[in-house]
Parts: sequence; C-alpha cells; structure tokens
Amino acid sequence: MNLIIFGPPGAGKGTQADFIVNKYNLYKLSTGEVLRNEIKNKTKLGEEISSIINSGSLVSDDIVEKLVETFISDKNYKDRLIFDGYPRNLTQAKTLGKLLEKHKQKIDLVLKLSVSLETITKRILERSTIEKRADDNKEIAVKRYRTYEKSTEPVIEYYKKLNLLKVIDGERAIDQINKEISDIITLI
Ligand code: AMP
Repeated sequence: MNLIIFGPPGAGKGTQADFIVNKYNLYKLSTGEVLRNEIKNKTKLGEEISSIINSGSLVSDDIVEKLVETFISDKNYKDRLIFDGYPRNLTQAKTLGKLLEKHKQKIDLVLKLSVSLETITKRILERSTIEKRADDNKEIAVKRYRTYEKSTEPVIEYYKKLNLLKVIDGERAIDQINKEISDIITLI
C-alpha cells in the first residue's frame, strides 16, 4: 500500500504519517525532512536550496523528482511508502504517477487533513518553540499556507477525480483522527 497525506503546513501531517507508519509498517517519505537534512549536512544540494526553503518557496520539481525516485526504486520501500509534503503541484503529481508505474506500483489512498488558517498559525507558533525550524514563524507560515492553497489544492482535485481521496477533519484530537484513518485503511 502506498499513500499520500495532504494538509497545509502545521495540519498535523507529520504526526498522522508517523502513526500510520508504525501501525502499518510503512516508510514515511517527507520531502521537506529530506531537504532539511541536506541543509543540515551542508551538502552541495543543501547549499543550493537553503535560501529557497527558508523563504517558504518551493524547490524545483527536478530536484524533488530525483530525490523521490531514489526511494521509489528502492526495493526496501516497495509498496510501503507514505508521501508527506509531496506531490506539491500538478507536475509533481503526474511525475509521481509515471515513477510509480515505471517501478510497478501505484497510489492506493490519498488522505487530506482539513485545517483552518487560524488553527495552523497557532500550531506552527507552538511548534516553533520546540523544533526551531527556520521557516516556522507567523509571516512565513501564512505564506506557506497560501502556497499550499494555490499550488497543492489543484493536486487534491486531481486525486479526487481518480477516486482516491478521503478528506479528514484535522481540527479534532489526534487520537480521533488516528481512528478515522485506521477505519479508512481497513476498507481499502
Ligand atoms: P514541509 O516540511 O513539507 O513543510 O516542507 C518544507 C519546505 O521544503 C517547503 O516549504 C519547500 O521549500 C520544500 N519542499 C518540501 N517538499 C517539497 C516539494 N514536494 N516540492 C518543492 N519543495 C518542497
């Protein structure tokens, strides 16, 4: 089973993805985390992308595609990927379809966590005191939310048409959301 989890930054995608990973023995591919590690490890790619990420913009589709293919082509992760933060636009969604087909896989379920901008700003400010991410402040949070609305919402429509989408109310308590996700997964 391969899944995608959507939701604006701060929606609780990471938390829910971790829950699914543990329960179903999947592997979480968070493109944001992989990119941040490149910056932390001061790689050539990390130097190239740090100002883009820190300003809240998206890095190029080519960079993300290469990175994602290394995971999709890896036998250890075959049919056990949960994509978090990817695809972020329609080009990436179509590329993902092609990459999965090339490696004889598909997407089985797309989850969307719905959360208001108000809740998100609150959660991101809370997270900023714990994780100290350079892109977690109010102004950048609003920018990332707007980017999500503009670039990522169309991707969600794309998966809706493919009948893969389930929308989840992300305003509720974590364990209630966990339960709803488990119930949905049981049915696929
Ligand atoms: P995230 O951890 O998913 O919120 O991502 C943090 C930042 O990493 C984003 O604001 C982008 O700059 C970059 N990023 C993560 N995933 C992608 C992606 N699929 N395409 C382009 N940029 C990405």
